[in-house]
Amino acid sequence: METSSQNFDTLGLSPLLLAAMTGLKYSRPTPIQERTIPAILFGKDVLGIAQTGSGKTAAYVLPILQRLLEEQWPMKDRHVPVLVLVPTRELAVQVETVFQELINGLPEKVKVTAVFGGVSINPQMIGMQGVQVLIATPGRLLDLIGSRSVHLSAVKVLVLDEADRMLDLGFQEEVDRLLALLPKKRQNLLFSATLNQAVDGITQLVLHKPEVIQVGDTPQKVTLIEQRAYRVSQERKGPFLRYLIQSMEMQQVLIFTASSHSADHVADKLNKNGIDALATHGKKSNHARQQALADFKAGKLRALVATDLLSRGIDIEHLPFVINYELPRSPKDYVHRIGRTGRAQRSGVAFSIITPEDQPHFKVIQKKMKQWVTLEGTDDIDLKGV
Ligand code: AMP
Repeated sequence: METSSQNFDTLGLSPLLLAAMTGLKYSRPTPIQERTIPAILFGKDVLGIAQTGSGKTAAYVLPILQRLLEEQWPMKDRHVPVLVLVPTRELAVQVETVFQELINGLPEKVKVTAVFGGVSINPQMIGMQGVQVLIATPGRLLDLIGSRSVHLSAVKVLVLDEADRMLDLGFQEEVDRLLALLPKKRQNLLFSATLNQAVDGITQLVLHKPEVIQVGDTPQKVTLIEQRAYRVSQERKGPFLRYLIQSMEMQQVLIFTASSHSADHVADKLNKNGIDALATHGKKSNHARQQALADFKAGKLRALVATDLLSRGIDIEHLPFVINYELPRSPKDYVHRIGRTGRAQRSGVAFSIITPEDQPHFKVIQKKMKQWVTLEGTDDIDLKGV
């Protein structure tokens, strides 16, 4: 991970927060942190163009905690002062972890909770008591508001994390409904990996004279990752995938497919051929998804086969290999998928298996990324017996 030459103590963070960071692996701020932290402490709205992997979560978590501690906003019960909206459960859990790690190092406790759909709402309703930082997916938050378990009228800081993803997943209407419930005067922080018309729209709606902070850009980020692409006929895809895993001696590999059905199929085939694999996608229960991810992170599972739903939330340090068994529809998703590897200053390799039918689409993706990957032939590789 790229870090700045400055130290964290030049950014305006209080000794309490600096002390809370000891023991965590943050030695120097990343570029997004260097620019975002002072702006947020200053009370400004921020538009951060940054991807998962840039350190953007801590970039808002640190100053928000500081504001929360210093400004001692009056707490009316079930009226959260800090709201973080996220598109997926995986990201909700990840953001909660970053908050919690820092809170653990503080003398004063701050109550943070993540809520998302796919699990029972009752414990979440009860758990809303005294919450100061609420991390939520839009649909579940609306349900909780509907049952009067939580109110948004006292929100001081709103974060929209992965706003582009939020819109891609069709949450525009939910987000609009939530925005209408917020007080007018508040600080708004919006993070997005990409800017497009839809994100522009929400940016205009939410942000007031924002500080625009863009670190690197997508192509620069992508160059950290070595990309390889292989031309493989449709019939040889399965054997070639196994060949790739075996010949590269991959012990932890994330494989992306285009559909839940295909993820199940690929995982099944791998298992039948002695490669420990699990599929994870939107049709699996929340519990199964979290368990699969936990097992994979812990190294108990050699291959995790996922759809694009998971391409952003997954944060695994030192994941060396990602394979696109099937290409994503959008170039943006390709960037997110391959961004799962090559994190935290380690190099990673992203492989794409390209059938002749995929080639035009792969060209479009490369053109968008302004990066060209040589397509390697595989016809002379003997795949018998893999
Ligand atoms: P994010 O972009 O927020 O998803 O963060 C990606 C990863 O970088 C997480 O594992 C963080 O714990 C880690 N990280 C965040 N800030 C720093 C930092 N200043 N130095 C080293 N690692 C960091």
